[in-house]
Amino acid sequence: MLKFRSRFLQPAILCLATLASLSLVSCTQDRDSSTPTYRIPYIDENGQNTFRDITLTTLGSAFEMNGRAAIIYFNPSNNGQTFTGAIAQPHLGKSGSLFRPIDPQSGTVIATYAFFEKMFFYEKKVLLAGDSQISWPRIVGVYSSVDKMSPNDENNAAYIPMPQGLTEIMPFTDNGRDALAFNHGVLGHEHFHAHFDMSVQSKLASIKSMSEVDIASSRGCPATANAYELKLLTIWNEGLADAYGAMVSEQPTFMTVSFGPEAARPIAIDPLPFQSAATLKKCRAIFPTLTKEKLQAMPKDQLNELVTSIDPHLNGAQLARAMFAVANHDEFPALGADAATLNKWQRSARYLIHRLKDFKTALEKKTDWENMQPDYALCFFFKDLNLSAETKAIVNKAFSSDYPDGVAQCGSL
Ligand SMILES: [Zn+2]
Repeated sequence: MLKFRSRFLQPAILCLATLASLSLVSCTQDRDSSTPTYRIPYIDENGQNTFRDITLTTLGSAFEMNGRAAIIYFNPSNNGQTFTGAIAQPHLGKSGSLFRPIDPQSGTVIATYAFFEKMFFYEKKVLLAGDSQISWPRIVGVYSSVDKMSPNDENNAAYIPMPQGLTEIMPFTDNGRDALAFNHGVLGHEHFHAHFDMSVQSKLASIKSMSEVDIASSRGCPATANAYELKLLTIWNEGLADAYGAMVSEQPTFMTVSFGPEAARPIAIDPLPFQSAATLKKCRAIFPTLTKEKLQAMPKDQLNELVTSIDPHLNGAQLARAMFAVANHDEFPALGADAATLNKWQRSARYLIHRLKDFKTALEKKTDWENMQPDYALCFFFKDLNLSAETKAIVNKAFSSDYPDGVAQCGSL
């Protein structure tokens, strides 16, 4: 497999060789009038690694990643509101109007900008007018190093729901796999969190009453009603993000190339059942307040079972797999007069984002979150669809043991 980090050195060597033999070509020439094209590593539709020349049209300058699609900070600080520090200025070799990044960091920031420019135009075309609540340019931090970072935080990316919404791409240290900056499925996942944040989560009045204790508790055992609500929202958010990542990248196994088969959540397989509401709350009985010390003292088997049952990504993956089945069978309603000009993944992405504001409206009316089941999201997204028997059977596999009849058991929402 091509290793992005080490391969970045090669274009620079080629450029220097060209310069030595052809004095007409400059590697460091600043600008010319033609549209800048960048040669960057790329994971294609089949998950294969290749290089490709891309044109970026939303940047003011080729040498600063500050444009209409994104503002990319390199190793920024976070002041609690936004990123501060230097906007990324890639080092580029140039021949004609073709730029080549001459070090790994430069390739990483250009590839990251390229993703957001792709999404800037993609969402203009694919999403229905008025459905997106997010603002452009997106604010993004790309890190090559972070002090005192735990191994868990490396090889990862995150969305931080601050006023503008920040996307963080952490250092990628697994040289055997594809860095996240090149993985449009992973970046699409993070980008979806901005939609969920702006269309659903930040709009719920109940979110404003969450305390620090609720938020901390929601990450482990949801010990309070608020923490349980946050746990459910996180499960749904993560699952829909996995689905959106697959839709926009058109790569349902996008996680494997960066995380490996053992850590990835491949969504092109049938779902397993959601954990039931009782299981999600089970750890309350084990530990009313689950502390780090108590977790460390827990027998490994019990800990594994607990972590698996409450992990929002693993639970959410079941929603993603149900979404994938419907998208793959092209059974989401085709919205918009131009629906026939889109492919099935684009129509599915349009449908998913379109439904978020209705999801918010439905959730706003809920007053008894403590008795809400994780299956609610499955009911919301699939109950009213006209699914084939084959697709419905796959979707039903995602329902928890509380819903043995699957979507037929949903009732009124
Ligand atoms: Zn996520």
